Amino acid sequence: MFGGLKRAISKVKEKLATTTLNEKDLDDALWEFEINLIENNVSEEVVRKLIDKIKNELINKKIPRFTKIDEIIDDTFKNLIEEVFQQLPKYDLVKMIKEKQEKPFVIVFLGINGNGKTTSIAKLCYKLKNQYNLKCLLACADTFRAGAIEQLEMHARKLNVEYIKHKYGSSPTAVAYSAVEYAYNKKIDVVLIDTAGRMQTDKNLVDEMKKLIKVIEPDFVILVVDSLTGNDAYYQAEMFEKEIPINGYIVTKVDADEKGGVPLSLIYATKKPILYLGTGSNYEDLIEMDKEWLLKNILK
Ligand code: GDP
Repeated sequence: MFGGLKRAISKVKEKLATTTLNEKDLDDALWEFEINLIENNVSEEVVRKLIDKIKNELINKKIPRFTKIDEIIDDTFKNLIEEVFQQLPKYDLVKMIKEKQEKPFVIVFLGINGNGKTTSIAKLCYKLKNQYNLKCLLACADTFRAGAIEQLEMHARKLNVEYIKHKYGSSPTAVAYSAVEYAYNKKIDVVLIDTAGRMQTDKNLVDEMKKLIKVIEPDFVILVVDSLTGNDAYYQAEMFEKEIPINGYIVTKVDADEKGGVPLSLIYATKKPILYLGTGSNYEDLIEMDKEWLLKNILK
């Protein structure tokens, strides 16, 4: 996982540490570093920020011999990550669920087909049920894609939780509404609402989603993005955000991501937190992302 980014960082450290650097060598090394970062899905704005910070350390402060190059590079990443996390709202989802007076706590999941939305709903349900003893209900509000209802239904059966479904083609808002009402009557803690994987550019589908959000007034909206889609992950996030307020993300498939730039670039671009990372296709493969995790997986 994230081997590409780790290699890019090791390479620049090595290059800067082993040559007797003049300004041209430094420029060349940083230029190569820039390209390597971009190749590993680090967004251009994050690359710019990192390179500027490194240049500032190395040139303006006139570090005499580049003996501490490892530390300078590591510190640049650490400081940037620190800075980015400071700007993020901090959510403790489990605490929020437990503290909500009037049940249920309602979470809507958005995201493009194939990103891992249904799998992530099932994983979060598994976590909330087994780790925190919370009662969950799944709402099959993706009434659009063939097989979507059966897929969520299959997870509900495996996880031994209740679910609400209507027919294909019926209103997603109606499904979500029935689910919230059912959960309210049955004192279920959390409703997890699956929605049709829509392109952020599909106006009708986006309007339908806006309607659902307006009627249901969820407590939390999660956008599921796929780390393998690279730059597209934060473009999707920015496009969705323009239409629907998002509280945070689940970034899936990081286990298969050989590059590694998406999580940092996503939170940098949108100033919204990643609540969980998908690290495989089993129910247990959902972990929280904090700055220590990010640092550990980028720098080591
Ligand atoms: P949806 O269309 O967004 O609901 O996507 P699905 O939940 O059906 O997932 C699409 C594919 O991605 C499935 O084959 C999942 O097993 C796979 N998947 C989802 N999350 C992860 C993850 O974190 N890691 C890996 N390796 N695969 C995942």
